[in-house]
Amino acid sequence: MNAEIIAVGSELLTPYRIDTNSLYLTAELNRLGVRVMRKTVVGDNREELREALEHALSYADIVVCSGGLGPTVDDLTRETVAGLLGRKLVRNEEILRSIQERFRKFGRAMPETNVRQAMVPEGAEPLDNPRGTAPGLWMETNGHYIVLLPGPPNELKAMFENEVRSRLSRIAPKRRLYTRDLRVAGMSESDADNRVAEIYKKYSQAEHTILAAPGAIQIHPRVWSEDREEANRILDDLVKSFGLALGENLYSTTGQSMEEVVAHELREHRATIATAESCTGGLIAARLTNIAGSSTYFLGGVVCYSNDLKTAWTRVPAEIIESKGAVSPEVALALADGIRKSTGAALGLSVTGIAGPGGGTPEKPVGLVHIGLADEKGPKEHAFRFPGDRERIRTQATNAALDMVRRYFLYAARPKA
Ligand code: AMP
Ligand code: MG
Repeated sequence: MNAEIIAVGSELLTPYRIDTNSLYLTAELNRLGVRVMRKTVVGDNREELREALEHALSYADIVVCSGGLGPTVDDLTRETVAGLLGRKLVRNEEILRSIQERFRKFGRAMPETNVRQAMVPEGAEPLDNPRGTAPGLWMETNGHYIVLLPGPPNELKAMFENEVRSRLSRIAPKRRLYTRDLRVAGMSESDADNRVAEIYKKYSQAEHTILAAPGAIQIHPRVWSEDREEANRILDDLVKSFGLALGENLYSTTGQSMEEVVAHELREHRATIATAESCTGGLIAARLTNIAGSSTYFLGGVVCYSNDLKTAWTRVPAEIIESKGAVSPEVALALADGIRKSTGAALGLSVTGIAGPGGGTPEKPVGLVHIGLADEKGPKEHAFRFPGDRERIRTQATNAALDMVRRYFLYAARPKA
């Protein structure tokens, strides 16, 4: 079964707004075994919308539209669909009353323009909108289904859950999409892809998508199947093979973020951590504190950008900075050890590097980052060369630092307390 999603709204064709509804809708449709073949974005324009609808209805079993159900003249999805299908719009008194009631509840009289929202094409089923005034519509035409949903994401989601999902599951095929969400760090996208590509020779039923972000890769293996247990068996098997191919670079098989995995390890080992950041400017501390309950393992951190503050706050000897430079293995080691000792944390994590675009030299180019990690046995350091602009370098440095903590718990950490 195929679907097309049509996002309606002129704001979606400007640089300021993007169609996010279709991401939600695609996930929901996939879960019901429906493949999204195409997505279209059109402005609030009758002819464009009509053309998009005609094309979608030429091949798709299900056409889902979002937006353009509001009360104003630029909202014309309802009228355009009715026109295209040659159906009259009939005023639905029940909907009208419920819109009036909604306005009354907020102490206002219903503007005359809202009457348009009570107009229903002949033969269409209105879909209740618990979060707003615009009702949605469900229609059937020549074996195709058309679903019209309001644009505001919270209204669209509520309506989908309450009204659309059950209707779709009645018509949806038995074949469903099953997926997993694997997370990989410390290797390139093409490396990861190469290693898992081999495995697919054994699994003709499976496919996967790879999403790459700086320093973090997501692999989503997918299986379409009529049999839930069989699909899960294939995916479990596949994930096991992926684990062998990717080794310790695979940090989650359940879609956890790097900071969630690190938080889990810190908690399991009853360990605490403190950070001393230079070029990442507090990004590591921000990521660690993204997680509720982080106060149990994150003691705090400093952003020590200047050489003086590296010395004052984390006791990095001024002579080392003088002789080796602020971006050096020695300073990363001293920062990590210093922050650990001055806070009393079990682990001290440090970053110093050149995020660019200026400040690089032949010996110390832009993208060079030293990361230090200290425990009670002393500090260790790793050097990295990250490609990309300032933002990418800082993101990759943050991921690599968190990953270093994760790997520490694979090897160096004492057994769980
Ligand atoms: P509408 O139903 O066309 O009146 O849409 C109302 C508001 O919903 C718009 O101003 C947008 O902020 C939001 N919206 C509309 N379409 C989308 C979409 N495809 N993705 C995310 N937000 C949307
Ligand atoms: Mg709109």
